[in-house]
Amino acid sequence: MFGLAGILALIVGSLWGGSACRKFCGDTVSDVISFVEAQKIVIGGCQPVAPILVDCQSMSGRVVAQDVVATEFIPPFANTAVDGFAVRAQDVTTAGVELEVLGVIGAGHVASYEIGAGQAARIMTGAPMPRGADAVVMIEDATELSATRVRCNKAAKTGDGIREIGEDVCAGDVVFKSGEVINAAGIGVLASINARKVLSYPKLRVAMLSTGDELVTDGSELKPGQIRESNLTMLAEMISATGCEVINLGIVADDEAMLENKLREVATKCDAIVTSGGVGQGDFDVVKIVLSRIAEMNWMQMAIKPAKPFAFGKFKTSDARVIPIFGLPGNPVSSMISFEMLARPSLRKMMGHTKNLTRPIVRAIVDAPMKRKQDGKIHFMRVFGEFADDGRLHVRDTGPQGSHQLAATSQANGLAIVPDGQGLQSGAEVDVMLLG
Ligand code: AMP
Ligand code: MG
Repeated sequence: MFGLAGILALIVGSLWGGSACRKFCGDTVSDVISFVEAQKIVIGGCQPVAPILVDCQSMSGRVVAQDVVATEFIPPFANTAVDGFAVRAQDVTTAGVELEVLGVIGAGHVASYEIGAGQAARIMTGAPMPRGADAVVMIEDATELSATRVRCNKAAKTGDGIREIGEDVCAGDVVFKSGEVINAAGIGVLASINARKVLSYPKLRVAMLSTGDELVTDGSELKPGQIRESNLTMLAEMISATGCEVINLGIVADDEAMLENKLREVATKCDAIVTSGGVGQGDFDVVKIVLSRIAEMNWMQMAIKPAKPFAFGKFKTSDARVIPIFGLPGNPVSSMISFEMLARPSLRKMMGHTKNLTRPIVRAIVDAPMKRKQDGKIHFMRVFGEFADDGRLHVRDTGPQGSHQLAATSQANGLAIVPDGQGLQSGAEVDVMLLG
């Protein structure tokens, strides 16, 4: 399993191409650059946002921005781990001892009496140990002779069946270190130590929009030349799966002033902007024109397939923040891969993640030839992988690999990182990024 450093190191060896950047109208327009270089520009260009106090129940998947120190013990008192009889171990040194039962103690109730010599109390899991008792005989090891009499069929030792105070967490313990990610069990821990608010990173609000006169979203019959918009639907899911809120601006109209106003307005309400389409070299989309004017953009061409073009920009908002703009290509597979490889890790970094910015990569076995041509690029081939009896992940491609062929991509659970060359034969090894 590798983090960003891993994938950088992994891919760097198979890259070609120097980079040459030139300034154009204030923007940077690059010749073909390596994927590693693109990652440095994009992910390196994003910084964590300011932490805030977050309700503990909203902490799932979030990063802790400050050590969380317990102020309470878990458990907060000694209690029974089993249903049974609270006894004095010294009274039950052999099997067959009979004791007088003083009462029943349920979870949440404290016995008013003390267990004396020859006495016991029926007790339910989680109930506080009564004074005097120092062991619990499990119900399975006891015979209830009457409501007030029990026979213990097993000897007891001090501490049997008891959960001591602080056995899980002690007051003063650092339960989560700054930088750690909270999972469902972690939320439970936060609740159990009464950490109601935690210093963490806010959910990013990510605005997204799509460009293209050919795109239709309203379900109407397609006119000649039109296609149905699919990227925003897909990206909305990818953005929310990254742990962000989506602000969907839809398809932008072909009007520069309107778009500029829309972007300036949404920028005050969001932490990042994702655009789809219009970033290719030949593109003169209104988005490209407007972004060039209002943001500091870097128009990139990467030595990867699919998803060669990518734009990354920084936009100064009217409330003096600088927010990133991720300009994804419009071809649906390219859009998906460039979000996955560049935007997702950047958004994670902004939300305080330092580890696993990109998804894990494992070495897999190629089960059917993966053909490609030598073109100086890394190919991210969509594959389906399964663990076989040999304990290894085996992969095969999911079908047509064109950047417009999202159907085959929808069958994939991994991206095989196929280095430059003539492709891979059956039985070869390949690195595969697991898509979840
Ligand atoms: P572009 O990146 O704008 O040059 O678009 C490249 C290709 O992707 C074209 O065939 C577009 O029709 C298609 N495309 C662009 N945006 C979308 C979208 N939002 N949904 C589906 N296809 C798109
Ligand atoms: Mg377009």
